[in-house]
Amino acid sequence: MALSLFNTLSLQVEEFVPSDGRTVRMYSCGPTVYNYAHIGNLRTFTFNDTLRRWLRYRGFVLNHVMNITDVEDKIIRKSMELGIPMTEYTLKYEQFFLEDMETMRLEKPEQIVRATEHIHEMVDLIETLQTKGLTYDSEGSVYFRISKFPGYGKLSHHDFSGIQAGARVDNDEYDKDDARDFVLWKSRKGEEPYWDAPFGAGRPGWHIECSAMAMKYLGDTLDIHTGGVDLAFPHHENEIAQSEGATGKPFARFWIHCEHLHVDMQKMSKSLGNIFTLRDLIELGHTPEALRFVLMSVPYRKRLNFTLESMKGAQTSIDRLRNYKLRLESDKLSPSTNPDIANLCQDAIAKFEASMDDDLNTAEALAAAFEFVRETNSLLDQGSFLEGNRTAALDLLARFDSVFDVIEPRHKSTGIVDSEVESLITERTSAKKARQFAKADEIRNKLLESGIILEDTKDGVRWKRK
Ligand SMILES: [Zn+2]
Repeated sequence: MALSLFNTLSLQVEEFVPSDGRTVRMYSCGPTVYNYAHIGNLRTFTFNDTLRRWLRYRGFVLNHVMNITDVEDKIIRKSMELGIPMTEYTLKYEQFFLEDMETMRLEKPEQIVRATEHIHEMVDLIETLQTKGLTYDSEGSVYFRISKFPGYGKLSHHDFSGIQAGARVDNDEYDKDDARDFVLWKSRKGEEPYWDAPFGAGRPGWHIECSAMAMKYLGDTLDIHTGGVDLAFPHHENEIAQSEGATGKPFARFWIHCEHLHVDMQKMSKSLGNIFTLRDLIELGHTPEALRFVLMSVPYRKRLNFTLESMKGAQTSIDRLRNYKLRLESDKLSPSTNPDIANLCQDAIAKFEASMDDDLNTAEALAAAFEFVRETNSLLDQGSFLEGNRTAALDLLARFDSVFDVIEPRHKSTGIVDSEVESLITERTSAKKARQFAKADEIRNKLLESGIILEDTKDGVRWKRK
């Protein structure tokens, strides 16, 4: 089966191949850097990462661009309230975002680009739209006239033919069903940051940022454009209007949207106090891998219900995989190969790949891996798992982890010295003797995170560095 993805444009699962057969030109709407990313944002960025990794697994090369929105209504309001220059304010949150990406093991897109460094491209694009008669000016601002763009609504599948001509909006966001002419360039106001332009001093609207940067780096027609489902309208609809209005060519072949995340069955909101950031979860004692696992355990097109309980379950699952891998690496096995296990292994890989090819069905892909672990763990217990099966099983785990990336501990160079390892092992042994198994496991995992692998043998505990 070929790799297939759900395209919001056609509302169908379609086979995906990049237009040149090799390099995927992909654009993802990035963060607006005015605050820490919350786990709903991180779901979308983790989805981008999953998609990237699967495209690479399938042999494609990536040219992935993500923007940093560093000029926008909320940013300006917040930085002015605090009396901090806008760039100083945004750089701080950009840095936090990049740190979170790294902690979450999210691959960096090939190009990360800031809106404020592409004002010139935005101005050019607005001028093109002006010459095509798709805009009008009002009080120093420039608006896109959506009634002049017949394709308006094709992504959100709304019929906007009866819209009120001339109704317009200056805000960067507005309600569904309420299509209005949107602002391309906002005239200079008070002390707000501004740039000079042929149509007057001001600053870009949010939507024009993505059109200008996507086309600059990836050409007129992208292979894939991704974002959270809340961006489909109006943001992506407006991106289409701007880009296609200017070039007359399709802007993106595939539009892929990641669903929302709820917390305890409710929308995240300030008033409910249920907005979590990665940093909040780490403070509560959870690991970034557990969050990665939770976010990937639900296919991206399904709503995900986040609970702190699910974080614990995820950690247990990750520990099972890690212990299984340790066992595969260190158990003494009898010679020869068990053909049944060789078949199990092949079947598991086939199921894993077919699930991912099926619109990134990460839940099924996980199930295939865990079924294999369960079955072969008991075969290891029975002694029918043989030396000749070791490499194939480890290869399966490596394939799985090339996408899920939760097994291999990401040990920062903690510089744990031998004597510390020995004393932790002694502590663990006493914990086990006292039947404090949770504590013993905790120490084992702590060591694993520092790159120390323990092996319980008849003669006591052996350990090695990874
Ligand atoms: Zn965007």
